[in-house]
Amino acid sequence: MTSPEMHPQRWGDPARATALPDAAAGLIELAFGGLDDRPAVSSVELPPVGLDADQLATVRRIVGDEHVLTGDEDRRLRTRGKSTPDLLRARAGDLTDAPDAVVRPATHDEVADLLRFCQEHEVALVPFGGGTSVTGGLVARREGYAGVLSLDLVRMKRLVDVDPVSMTATLEPGLRGPEAEALLAEHGVTIGHFPQSFEFASIGGFAATRSSGQSSAGYGRFDALVVRLTVATPQGTLQVGSAPANAAGPDLRQLMLGSEGAFGVITAVTVRVRRVPAEKVYEGWRWPSFLDGAAAMRTLAQAGLLPTVIRLSDESETAINLARPDEIGAEGAAGCLMITGFEGEPEAVAAKRAAVTAVLTGLGGTPAGEEVGQAWAHGRFNAPYLRDSLLDVGVLVETLETATFWSNLQALYDGVKTALETTLGDPTMVLCHISHVYETGCSLYFTVATKEGEQPVEQWLAAKAAASDAMMAAGATITHHHAVGTDHKQWFATEIGPVGVNILRAVKAELDPTGILNPGVLIP
Ligand SMILES: Cc1cc2nc3c(=O)[nH]c(=O)nc-3n(C[C@H](O)[C@H](O)[C@H](O)COP(=O)(O)OP(=O)(O)OC[C@H]3O[C@@H](n4cnc5c(N)ncnc54)[C@H](O)[C@@H]3O)c2cc1C
Repeated sequence: MTSPEMHPQRWGDPARATALPDAAAGLIELAFGGLDDRPAVSSVELPPVGLDADQLATVRRIVGDEHVLTGDEDRRLRTRGKSTPDLLRARAGDLTDAPDAVVRPATHDEVADLLRFCQEHEVALVPFGGGTSVTGGLVARREGYAGVLSLDLVRMKRLVDVDPVSMTATLEPGLRGPEAEALLAEHGVTIGHFPQSFEFASIGGFAATRSSGQSSAGYGRFDALVVRLTVATPQGTLQVGSAPANAAGPDLRQLMLGSEGAFGVITAVTVRVRRVPAEKVYEGWRWPSFLDGAAAMRTLAQAGLLPTVIRLSDESETAINLARPDEIGAEGAAGCLMITGFEGEPEAVAAKRAAVTAVLTGLGGTPAGEEVGQAWAHGRFNAPYLRDSLLDVGVLVETLETATFWSNLQALYDGVKTALETTLGDPTMVLCHISHVYETGCSLYFTVATKEGEQPVEQWLAAKAAASDAMMAAGATITHHHAVGTDHKQWFATEIGPVGVNILRAVKAELDPTGILNPGVLIP
C-alpha cells in the first residue's frame, strides 16, 4: 500500500475531491448570503533554484541522482503544509517558500551525510514527513542560507521489527498512517493512532509534533506511545529510550518528541502496539448543554472509565452536524452530541460499554444509538475535503485548538469564542468540540467559518492572533496537538517564559550550532 500524493493546492487525494453537497451549500447561502466563485490559479511560477551545480552534485552523490528533484512540480508539492493560510497562498500561486530541491534519503547514514553537507554549505534543511503541518512547520527561514533542501522521508518506509513479547514495533519515519497500520496488521497489531490527518501524516511527523489521535482516550497520545527514538543530529546520532521506564535523569525522549525538525531528524521510532481490536462499536449520546456533557466526560475520566473514543460537540457544532461531515447542513439536533467508541475483545467492550452507559445515563445523557456513532466513524476523515469546497465558494474555514484544566474550561471556551467572533464580525460561525480528555482536563477544538474578505490570509491571521491571546489570557496552552511551527512561536514564548525559551535555545545551539535544521521553526 502506498499513500497517494496530495493535491498541491488542496487537502488529500485529488481523486477524492468533492463538490459542496447541496445541504451544505444551502446552509452557506443562508449563513453567508450567497456563494462566490474563488477558483485557484493554475499557473506555477517558482523562484530559481538557489543551489549551484557543484552543491547539487554533492547531494546527488549522497542519495543517488534520481533522488534529488529540482523540477517545478516536485518543489511545489513540498512547499508549506496544509493550514488554511498555506492553502490560500498556494491557491493564489504564491510559491515563494518553495525549497530549492527535494532530497530523498533511504537510510539513517544518508540523512547524517546530508546534515554534514548542509553544515558545510550553510544550506537549511526541512524534514518533510506527510506535509500535513498546520502551524507553518515546513516554512523554514531562507535569509542567511545558501538554499533550502526539503528532506523528504518518503523512501524510509520500513517496518524494522515487531517484538510480540514486549508488544513494541520499530518503524521508519516516512511511513504514512495507513502504510504503517497495514504493515502492523500483518502481525495482528495496531498503534491505534488515528488523527484526522491519518491518511497522509507520517510516523516521524507524529513524533516530531506530539500528535494526538481521535482514539487517544483509549490508546494514548502519540508521545505516550513512543518508547525509543533514533535521531540524526548535526552533532551525531542520539538514541533515547533504553527501558519501559527509567529514572536515568530527565527523559531525553521528551526533548526530541515535539522538536519539529529543529533538533535533528527522527530516523526510527519504536512504539507500543496493541492487538488489532476484534470489535469496534461507536455510538451517540445527547446532552442538554455543552457543560453537562463536559461534566460527564470528566466523571468518566476521573473514574477510570474512558472509552477508546470520546468527543463532545457544542450546541453550534451539533446543530450543523459537523461530527457527521456527510450530513452537514441537514437538519441537526438540539443540545450537544457526544460520540463514544469502544474497541477491544467483545467481553471487554461489553463490560466497559455497560459501565459507561450506567454513568452517562445517571448523569442525564440520552442514548442516540449506534447509527449516529457509525456515521461519525464513517465520515471521520472527510471534513478536510469540505474545507477546499468552501474555499472554492468564498467561505474561509480554519480550525484551532488548545487545552486546559477542567476548572478553567468555561473561561477558555468563552474567551476564544468571543475573540474569534469579535475579530471576524458578522457573519461568522464558531463551532467547538472537546476532542481529547484527561483526568485533569481536556482539549477544545474550534472550527471557524466566515465570509472570505479581500485579504483572507491577513483576515485569518488577525482572528488567530486574537484567539491565541485569549488562550494566554485564560492560562491555557497555545496548542494541544498541532505543535508550534512558525505560527505559534510568539505565544509559545509566553507560555514557557524566558527561562524555558533559553533552555530550548541552548539545546538548539548544542545540537545544531550552525542552525541549519528548520531555521525559524519552534525556537522563539
Ligand atoms: C486536515 C488536518 C487534520 C489534522 N488532524 C490532526 C489531528 O487529529 N491530530 C493531530 O495531532 N494533528 C492533526 N493535524 C496536524 C498534522 O497532521 C500533525 O501535526 C502531524 O503529526 C504532522 O505529521 P506529518 O508527517 O504530516 O509532518 P509534516 O507536516 O511533514 O511535518 C511537521 C513538522 O515535523 C517535522 N518533521 C516531520 N518529520 C520529521 C522527522 N522524521 N524528523 C524530524 N522532524 C520531522 C517537519 O519539519 C515539520 O516541522 C491535522 C492536519 C490537517 C491538515
